Amino acid sequence: MKVPFIDLGAQYESIKAEIHDAIGQVLRSTAFAGGPFVSRFEENFARFCGTNHAVGVGNGTDALWFSLLAAGVGPGDEVITVPNTFIATAEAISFCGAKPVFVDVDEKTCTMDPARIEKAFTPKTKAIIPVHLYGQTADMDPILALAKNRKIPVIEDACQAHGSAYKGRPAGSLGLAGCFSFYPGKNLGAYGEAGAVVTNDADTAQKIRIMRDHGQARKYDHRVIGWNGRMDGIQGAVLDVKLRHLDAWNEGRRKNGRRYTELLKKLSAVTPPHEALWSTHVYHIYAIRVKERDLLIEKLNEMGISCGIHYPVPIHLQKAYENLGLRRGAYPVAEKIADELVSLPMFPELREDQIVHVVEKIADLVG
Ligand SMILES: *Cc1c(COP(=O)(O)O)cnc(C)c1O
Repeated sequence: MKVPFIDLGAQYESIKAEIHDAIGQVLRSTAFAGGPFVSRFEENFARFCGTNHAVGVGNGTDALWFSLLAAGVGPGDEVITVPNTFIATAEAISFCGAKPVFVDVDEKTCTMDPARIEKAFTPKTKAIIPVHLYGQTADMDPILALAKNRKIPVIEDACQAHGSAYKGRPAGSLGLAGCFSFYPGKNLGAYGEAGAVVTNDADTAQKIRIMRDHGQARKYDHRVIGWNGRMDGIQGAVLDVKLRHLDAWNEGRRKNGRRYTELLKKLSAVTPPHEALWSTHVYHIYAIRVKERDLLIEKLNEMGISCGIHYPVPIHLQKAYENLGLRRGAYPVAEKIADELVSLPMFPELREDQIVHVVEKIADLVG
């Protein structure tokens, strides 16, 4: 039995008529860059996140970069984040001219360990970016308290956490700004590239609206040096359709996650993901830990069960960041989990027989 890692085709088939209708409306109105379809999605996405504003941008990396710029982060500053994330989190910091300063993660949740933040503070620290990894929020209350003491903002990397919650509060609504990616494979995925920032702060929203549109508040009145970071109309229309289904899709992921965990708990060689008490996990990624990781992935892939690794090399050990001068041993937890993680097939339409099959094969291979 073949089990794909993700099945975007199955999802498309289930909403085909609505999608074609929505794209047809954009084509007929020719509102291709920004425009009313993006605005409508922004309103609905802000409501979904429980925030006053949402600003559509080109992708999740733009969302992070613009949020940092709006928070005043610039050359010489430091921004605290984690080493076990997609590289975009660090790139956004670097593209402000600032330096990423990593803190290690909690081994159970793989998210930022609040107990390690204080030691990373310097007079140059200007923001903290916790990453809501795999669809589970970081432990936000202690992080928000530390940031408040220092009078610095928290910017949430919620690129994997659409619809997730921390103690019932929506991901993205907890800090100064919440950054989302709508890359096709995310829980809410565009049919192309897109992203958004959500915030309750009108000033931050306005700064990002100006920044994404070449620094202009009105046409050809350029107040600051901005960028072209607009969301396109077709993506706005597609996302608005898909947003209506997101809660049901996330529920499907949660159900699949519970089933996997129930079955995998019986295998002593496997550590299933830990769902923290504070969290509503939306399983963007279902990541287990095993010692003989590389062999397991190779065998599963040979059998037609597609797996991944998120992420095999922590950022401080990437060539791109060698100038930080950080070696193996700097962040032991992030390094250890990077060697043991396996992401199993996970999407809302994944079937019971597929889950059982995947777990049976894992049991055969690692016992
Ligand atoms: C996907 C992702 C991003 C970047 O989003 P893009 O839309 O690809 O630019 C940033 N951070 C994390 C944690 C992500 O998973």
